[in-house]
Amino acid sequence: MADLPQKRKLTTSESMYLVEVVKGMALTLGHVIKNIVGQAKGEAFDTIEYPEVRKPVNDRYKGAHRLTTRPDGKYKCVACMCCSTACPAKCISIVADEDADDPIEKYPVVFNIDMLRCIYCGFCVEACPKDAIRMDTRIYEINAYTRQDMIHTRNYMRDLMDGAKPEAERWYRENPEDAPAGFLEEIPPVVPFS
Ligand code: SF4
Ligand code: SF4
Repeated sequence: MADLPQKRKLTTSESMYLVEVVKGMALTLGHVIKNIVGQAKGEAFDTIEYPEVRKPVNDRYKGAHRLTTRPDGKYKCVACMCCSTACPAKCISIVADEDADDPIEKYPVVFNIDMLRCIYCGFCVEACPKDAIRMDTRIYEINAYTRQDMIHTRNYMRDLMDGAKPEAERWYRENPEDAPAGFLEEIPPVVPFS
C-alpha cells in the first residue's frame, strides 16, 4: 500500500501566522490601491451589485432542496426513508402515512430538513429512488432570523420554485399551518452593533 502523505511540520514563523497575516494584508492593500487608482482613471470596480445582480452558479450547484410532485399534484416521495438513512448529518425527519387513494404507497405527512445541519452533500438526492428530492434550485440564500425557520418543511420545499419563494420565513408567515414547530410569530428585534 502506498505511503500516506505526512503532515508537514510548520516552521516557527508559520506557526505564529504573522508572515501569513502580513502577506494577506499586503494583498488586500494592493487591491485597495489598485481600485483607488482604477477609479481615478474612470475604470469600474470589478464587483457584482448584489442583491440586484446575482452571481451565476454552475449547473451542478447544490442549492436549497425542493420536493417534486406528480402530474396530479401529489408528492413523488413515497416516504421510503432512503434519503434520511443516507444523510450523514441526520437532518432529514420524515413521518410516513398510507395514501388513502393508493393502498400500495405511502407519503410523507412530515418531511423536514434542518438546513442548519445540512452539509449540502447531495446524498439524499442520490439515494432517492423516485426523483422526489432535488437540489437544482440554485438558491443559495438560505437564511432566517430563528433556528426554527431554518427547518424547511414539506410544502415549503414543494413550492420553492413556484413563484420564486426563497425566503422560508416569509413563506411560513403566509402559510403558518405549514411552519415548523416552534415557528416564532414575532421576529426578535435586531440589536445594532454599538
Ligand atoms: S444534502 Fe446531505 S446533509 Fe443535506 S439533507 Fe441531503 S444528505 Fe443530508
Ligand atoms: S425523498 Fe425519495 S428517498 Fe426520501 S423518503 Fe421520499 S422517496 Fe424516499
